[in-house]
This record gives sequence, C-alpha cells and structure tokens, in this order.
Amino acid sequence: MSEPEAKPAPPVIFLDAIHKIYHAGEVDVHAVRGVSLAVARGEFVAIMGASGSGKSTLMNLLGCLDRPTQGRYLLDGTGVSELNRKQLSSLRNRKLGFVFQSFNLLARTTALENVELPMFYSHQFLPLRRQKEKALAALAKVGLTDRAWHHPSQLSGGQQQRVALARALVNEPEVILADEPTGNLDTRTSIDIMGVFQALNDAGITILMVTHELDIASYCKRIIIMRDGEILSDEPNLQRRRAADELALLNQREHRVKLA
Ligand code: ADP
Ligand code: MG
Repeated sequence: MSEPEAKPAPPVIFLDAIHKIYHAGEVDVHAVRGVSLAVARGEFVAIMGASGSGKSTLMNLLGCLDRPTQGRYLLDGTGVSELNRKQLSSLRNRKLGFVFQSFNLLARTTALENVELPMFYSHQFLPLRRQKEKALAALAKVGLTDRAWHHPSQLSGGQQQRVALARALVNEPEVILADEPTGNLDTRTSIDIMGVFQALNDAGITILMVTHELDIASYCKRIIIMRDGEILSDEPNLQRRRAADELALLNQREHRVKLA
C-alpha cells in the first residue's frame, strides 16, 4: 500500500494575472500589469521598487481595500471578487492586519483602546472584559504591557508603531500587510521594529512589507522587486539578517563605551 500523498498547503495569498487600471480623467494609469504571486503561510516578503512602480496599489489590492480591474485573487482560499462588500470587509477583518508608515493611531485614546478598536469593527461582540484581555495580550506580544494606559503623544515613534502592530494583531490575522512601517523611524528604532516583525513571523504569522530600503528588506525571507507595475524579480533572501542579534551587539558596544 502506498502512503497517502501529502497535499501541499494552499497559499494564503494567491494572485493570478492581476491588473489595476486607474481611470483618472482623460488618462488611464495601468498601475499593476499582470502580477501573479503565491505566498505560503509563514513567509516574510519584502516588496521593493522605485516610487510609482505600483507597490501601494498592489498592497491595496492585497488588503481588499480596492478591487483589481482584471485577474483573480484568492485570500486563504476564498475568491475575493465573488464577495459583496459586507463579506469582503468581514474577510478582511478576520484575515488581515494593517500597519502603516504613519502609525494611524487615535490621538485622544490610550494605547489599550487603540488596540481594542478592530474588535469593534469586526462585530464579534465579545464581552468588554474579554476585549480588554485580548488587547493586553496583543500589547504583551509587542513588549508594551507597561504602556497600555499611555496616549500616543506620550510614546516614542517606535512605541507608537508597536501599538499599531498590536492593533494589527488583535483579531489574530493570518497575514500582516505593512506599507513602509519603518519609514518614519530612525535606524536603531527601525531595527528594533524589524525585530518585532521577525519574532511575530517566527511565531507563524505571514508578513508582506513594502519598503524602499534594502537595509530593511534584508531582514525578510523573500524579496520581490517591482518595476512599472510588474514583478521584475522575486528571490529568496539567503543572507537574512537577524534584528535581535544586531540589537544585542549594539547594546554591548554602548555598554562598553559607557564603561570606558
Ligand atoms: P508606489 O507605491 O510604488 O510608489 P503606486 O501604487 O502608489 O506606486 O502608484 C503606481 C502608479 O499608479 C503611479 O503612476 C501613480 O501615479 C498611479 N496611481 C496611484 N494611485 C492612483 C489613483 N488613485 N488614481 C490614479 N492613479 C493612481
Ligand atoms: Mg507607495
């Protein structure tokens, strides 16, 4: 008797010949031109490319914030184009977490309340006590338990991005989509945030991240480069950097400087 064949897991993201054409007045802008892409669970993908190459358009399509003009998109096996608005927003809330360059936190609201917000939108109607527990658990995952009751203005840029990451995690998504998440952070803080992303990825979450910095892409497992709306190259990153190791080294060096 032969062994039953192990079925390969279906990709969590599957794009088949996706196009996006913007109709802006008299001109059509063909922003994404036939992109096909499969991303398996547990991948950590950097999407690079010059300004205007279609990175954000692709992220908006992946995030179900916009619909492709043509082509097929399966998100965790579900055909996105067959869904109505309500089904689409429900799928988005369950499967995806978003992180942006500008954090997008509500200013007059505590870190904890910011993290609780997606649970209101996802209509799970959890008891308030349970929501608070889940939000605190998400803050713990990004190392911010002790800042739960701070407002964004009382937090550093890196801490604010950690709150945004906790907010992206709170509905336990399959995939995190991040558009230039370190774009507003200094080098040291960027490494720190890449360390948080790597730890989350080690724990199993799939990440797609737009960045124009090769330094940042070098922490990812796979690097896709876009040009003029197309995928120019798509390669595994064999020399992946580990943020935690680099931070430990930086700390050691600073410690030595202080002692000298
Ligand atoms: P990137 O994020 O790589 O800088 P974008 O996806 O933002 O690139 O843009 C790709 C192309 O699509 C650009 O030529 C841009 O001007 C155009 N574009 C983006 N958004 C719109 C829109 N809402 N309407 C019309 N054109 C757009
Ligand atoms: Mg962009």
